[in-house]
Amino acid sequence: MSTNPADPVNILFAATDRHWETYEAPLRTALDKADLSYTLATDLPPGSVDFIIYAPNGDLQDFSPFMRLRAVLNLWAGVEGITGNPTLTAPLARMVDHGLTQGMVEWVLGHVMRHHLGMDAHIVNPQHIWEAKAPPLARDRQVTILGIGELGEACAKALDTVGFQVTGWSRSPKSIPGISCLHGETQLAGALARADILVLLLPLTGQTENLLNADRLSQLPPGAVILNPGRGALIDDSALLKALDGHLAHATLDVFRTEPLPPDHPFWAHPKITVTPHIASETRPASASEVIASNIKRSIAGEPLLHLVDRSAGY
Ligand code: NAP
Repeated sequence: MSTNPADPVNILFAATDRHWETYEAPLRTALDKADLSYTLATDLPPGSVDFIIYAPNGDLQDFSPFMRLRAVLNLWAGVEGITGNPTLTAPLARMVDHGLTQGMVEWVLGHVMRHHLGMDAHIVNPQHIWEAKAPPLARDRQVTILGIGELGEACAKALDTVGFQVTGWSRSPKSIPGISCLHGETQLAGALARADILVLLLPLTGQTENLLNADRLSQLPPGAVILNPGRGALIDDSALLKALDGHLAHATLDVFRTEPLPPDHPFWAHPKITVTPHIASETRPASASEVIASNIKRSIAGEPLLHLVDRSAGY
């Protein structure tokens, strides 16, 4: 349904106060630039709201009073906190933002290079050991990325540019120049078996929860390294601890089942685990605001939303 672009729309910002402080100015800039006539506020009568800009960790969980809601625009890429909400019937768009993507590429590239070059041995070397052994070239190292959507594909291309042998795994078949693309349950074992370094960039859904269980972890080659900037529940925590006490070399984890990671969690103290505090990447307010403004404009014009979530697939 399209409406006259000159008609004002009411946009509710439903996220934390901290988000509002960061997003209000860039959102107004982007909405003005898109020539939209709007009211943007953190509190509006539910029956008057056309669009909700949303972060799933805020207070709003019941969408049923929003009778004329046209869309919910998620501030985050991950939507597992909202896809199962039965009170939401309006279309849901997730965040695809080039700043967010670039941040993830940099995090993944940095952590891949740490393990590829064996940097730790030289950074922490209290005995001053002089072992003159050069690392292999990237072309001799295989990196597998589970999930080659917006973020995974950008990471795959960056790693390919450096020279790594990159395999990507997704739900549907794909063809990406330079990347060996596998898909579906039956090709997962092959993707794991070749992973010197495994990167998880899957969304958390009913199909991906605990995907890396004891059996799948055992399919990784000896000495493999896991990087998880996807979601904590993609990995079975206790199976990971066991595999690290066995054939795996290291896991660098950015995301966890409970965040912040509780102080007594065994991941903190494990010598083969690096914890980063969910900082792999984040939505950048200026570029994300432009994505939101353009989606509101599309909706007003009766055009399909960009980055629409398939609620049945869960992402
Ligand atoms: P996306 O574009 O939706 O890509 C998801 C990828 O996962 C797609 O390739 C999809 O396959 C694949 N996939 C989904 N379910 C699958 C299944 N059952 N089997 C095999 N492959 C499956 O998502 P994105 O924007 O790249 O984001 C990925 C995730 O990164 C987010 O959901 C979020 O959890 C996480 N993230 C983390 C941070 C952080 O700071 N740590 C920041 C942003 C995002 P198809 O291509 O076939 O659909």
